[in-house]
Amino acid sequence: MRLSLCRRPRSVRPFPWSPNPMDPRRHHRRRPHHDNKKTPIVVVMGATGTGKSRLSVDVASRFPSEIINSDKIQLYRGLDVTTNKIPLPDRRGVPHHLLGDADPSAGDLPPSAFRRLASSAVSSISSRRRLPVLAGGSNSLIHALLSDRFVPHDDFLSPVRLRFNCCFLWVDIAGDVLVEHLDRRVDEMLGLGMFEELAGYLGTAESRAESGRNVGLNRAIGVPEFSKFFSRFGQRARPDADGEARKAYEEAVEEVKENTRRLAEVQRMKIVRLGSSAGWRLHRLDATEAVRAVLEGEPARFKEMWDRDVLRPGLEGGCM
Ligand code: ATP
Repeated sequence: MRLSLCRRPRSVRPFPWSPNPMDPRRHHRRRPHHDNKKTPIVVVMGATGTGKSRLSVDVASRFPSEIINSDKIQLYRGLDVTTNKIPLPDRRGVPHHLLGDADPSAGDLPPSAFRRLASSAVSSISSRRRLPVLAGGSNSLIHALLSDRFVPHDDFLSPVRLRFNCCFLWVDIAGDVLVEHLDRRVDEMLGLGMFEELAGYLGTAESRAESGRNVGLNRAIGVPEFSKFFSRFGQRARPDADGEARKAYEEAVEEVKENTRRLAEVQRMKIVRLGSSAGWRLHRLDATEAVRAVLEGEPARFKEMWDRDVLRPGLEGGCM
């Protein structure tokens, strides 16, 4: 059974990796996670900056789908640039759930609450005969949603039975290319208004004091790093000022870059372990060449490489 780039009649094969009754080879396929009584769901995983949001929308543009966010920081309203929420035009009309809905002042949303909210989104999407696509982020939340039985505080890297018929797509990028890409992404985010957004967020004395509480949006990379800057120089301080302010600004940017690289490394390690220890059958898609094309100043080649290395193999082979 192959995923097809063109849509098939739903009565024959409602979702991309449901068994095609016309395929004579279907009995010979190895389908460890496939239980066709379970709800099908695509799970797009990957470290920060690897292109999960793009792949989710790409998949959703080919099959009638809706996307559920599972990045624990993007659940909250606010700091859209700093937390890298997919901008509206890039969503290409695909509905997104649990993206920027939670009230940041309500504290942390525990995995049990995420499981409840995301399960209800999965049911609602499936009941409308659309495909739920989980756009990965926080591996503990993905695990909380997908586990047959949810045990709070359980080690989420241990094996569990999955409650859905999961198609796991893992977007990966080679370390050196990812590091350069992430550093550049921070510079781009600053160009898009991350500093101003943080100045607004951390602008008042109360929110600066509040930002000391390590919950919700306050944990977004950028908040702790820049709160030191704003406490010292005030919210009107400009990054292009001279002297101490300039130095402190550059230090904050460097810290954001370092913490982003560290986050990507830890997230990747957890994904590898979900494949090896928890036994999830992840289909690895290598976006290295696509990202390298952009880094080498050939953005026009990005789409060609992305389609060749990520989208096409994801659609055609990811869920066999
Ligand atoms: P896990 O869910 O795997 O147990 P975790 O609880 O550490 O890991 P992650 O989603 O990996 O959760 O996020 C870890 C930290 O990375 C967050 O606390 C936050 O500091 C930062 N982070 C994660 N996502 C974002 C984001 N979208 N924007 C800014 N910072 C983020």
